[in-house]
Amino acid sequence: MKYLDDLAADIEGWKRDGRYRTIKVWESGSGTWMYLNGRRILQMSSNNYLGLTDHPALKKAAIEAIEKYGVGSGSVRTITGTLDIHEQLELELAAFKGTEAALVFQSGFTTNQGALSAILGADDAVISDELNHASIIDGIRLTKAARKIYAHKDMNQLEVVLKNTQKHRKRIIVTDGVFSMDGDIAPLPDIVQLAEAYDAIVYVDDAHASGVLGKNGKGSTDHFGLHGRVHVQIGTLSKAIGAVGGYVAGAQLLKEHLIHSARPFLFSTSQPPAVAATCLAAIRVLRDSSDLVARLWHNADTFRSSLQRLGFDTGASETPIIPIIVGDPIRTTHFSDRLLEEGLFAQSILYPTVAMDKGRVRLIVTAQHTEEDLAFALDSLEKVGREFGLIYIS
Ligand code: PMP
Repeated sequence: MKYLDDLAADIEGWKRDGRYRTIKVWESGSGTWMYLNGRRILQMSSNNYLGLTDHPALKKAAIEAIEKYGVGSGSVRTITGTLDIHEQLELELAAFKGTEAALVFQSGFTTNQGALSAILGADDAVISDELNHASIIDGIRLTKAARKIYAHKDMNQLEVVLKNTQKHRKRIIVTDGVFSMDGDIAPLPDIVQLAEAYDAIVYVDDAHASGVLGKNGKGSTDHFGLHGRVHVQIGTLSKAIGAVGGYVAGAQLLKEHLIHSARPFLFSTSQPPAVAATCLAAIRVLRDSSDLVARLWHNADTFRSSLQRLGFDTGASETPIIPIIVGDPIRTTHFSDRLLEEGLFAQSILYPTVAMDKGRVRLIVTAQHTEEDLAFALDSLEKVGREFGLIYIS
């Protein structure tokens, strides 16, 4: 059939470019060591930053919620899909983030789609960092607002755009808090200062900053001491929080508006109760924990320094996301495959997600990795890195 021929041609093209990938099927939960085809593999590509996917308090909360509420919420939030557990989660999320209100969505992806398309009207302008996440790009595509992209973290360009968009009703500056491919941090204080000078709104996506940056993992706004000056904070419940979901934290009026205007909120079934209960338990663990986030940063900083000492190019990383830049897609895929043979999983990130010559494996260090785990990873990386000529020490 013609349409299948078209699909097959696409797939052949991806294979030629080295972009085709076979989905790996893991035989265990998302811990530091996972099983793949019966082999024990050290995981360094999961977003399970704090190791919460396996936390006893979260598992207990999920089981109890299933016993109490059943497995599904039964409808969208506006019909029967708002259970007391959803409301409690939103109350405690808002308190944790230090905002008036929070609204929970089914994923971080739908949060950006819902929030951006609801907030932005045809008379507005959206001003977005070129390296923002796909869900932001897609959210923006759903709107009729004027679209302006500034070079990555380039504050001079951002200012020029702010100067040139003054005729628009409102301007929204959108940025990732931590950039997911490079692991660098957005210059939020500078963005906020420019936004205040030019009367713009600041929208930050803390998917990779939730549970990572700020006191107890409260995010980039807390990290930079910018409470009350960032208007819209997006978070995900799918990474450090250990379950799945997303949220908007901000003004009560923003929440009230989104309840009536954000389409994934209005037209897609809400989080299952066990998921909401898990997220609530995770927020409580974070709130009450004194050392989880510190352990994450200790592991990340030590590991990044060790990689740099070996001579690896870790790009712009300043967080637990640590890329090793390898090169073109085929070489990068081979590097990742060789690491897997050694027992280490480091996901390759290829064009078009990153530039053609900036293919990389993306390592994510978690609080759960032990010293022995990280030593094993370093040994494997040193061995394979030397084979690939990525490091030159003898
Ligand atoms: N925003 C950013 C910056 C992300 O990295 C991701 C996850 N890849 C998302 C949003 C989507 O979050 P979720 O996985 O919860 O849909």
